Amino acid sequence: MLKVTIDGRTWEAEEDMTVLQVAKAHDIRIPTLCYHPALRPSGSCRLCAVEVASRSTGQPITMLACVLRVKDGMQIQTQGKEVQRARTKAFKSLLQMAPQAQSIVNLARSYDIDPGPPPDGCIRCHLCIRVCKEIVGPGALKMEKRDGRNYVVPLEGLCIGCGTCANICPTQVIRVEDRENIRTISIRDEVIGKHPLERCEGCGRLYATPRFLDHIHRRTASHTDVKSFHNYCPTCAKLFSDRIKSQSARPRK
Ligand code: SF4
Repeated sequence: MLKVTIDGRTWEAEEDMTVLQVAKAHDIRIPTLCYHPALRPSGSCRLCAVEVASRSTGQPITMLACVLRVKDGMQIQTQGKEVQRARTKAFKSLLQMAPQAQSIVNLARSYDIDPGPPPDGCIRCHLCIRVCKEIVGPGALKMEKRDGRNYVVPLEGLCIGCGTCANICPTQVIRVEDRENIRTISIRDEVIGKHPLERCEGCGRLYATPRFLDHIHRRTASHTDVKSFHNYCPTCAKLFSDRIKSQSARPRK
């Protein structure tokens, strides 16, 4: 029999036991997810970090309790700053892989670790902000810090309802919903813009917002070739422009 000290209390242990097995035998809490008594320990979840005093220097070293075999006179701490730091890192990395796993969130909280807000699907690529400002023009989106994290948020009243941000978003976290004759652009549960929709003068289909049409009209005012088709949806506009082109290409009699 060996003697090991865990959190100031000394226990007897068998030679081939791990620190985790000794802790479990005495109801000492150490978080684990990848451990199963019927299988060889792998240390893959990295949650069971403990501090062990180095035999030569006495300095604490962080090690995984599931794979660490006990030695006579071993001094182990299951709590403390370094243990908490290692656990926090392990929890964060697990939650990155499985953000929907409520069991991991609950386990983290039970060890006083803040799991942070659930991911919102945005990868902070800035494409929506840039396309709205650099290509479309209104600059209706910005990045804002909330509770220490950056979020894409709308600038009130600037959206013109074009939907370009939703089209460019690689994770489809920005949504465009056309219902009845209203277009709603939103991110998470936040509305970026709500706009009425205009009907195409050619086919009658609801196709664009007045603010967008007005914006395009102003931007292309100097292009006499295109401005006459703004009241048509893209399909009708193409149809009419093709027709005009073929008429003007016809030889005059
Ligand atoms: S829908 Fe609104 S926020 Fe999105 S790109 Fe167009 S103007 Fe910008």
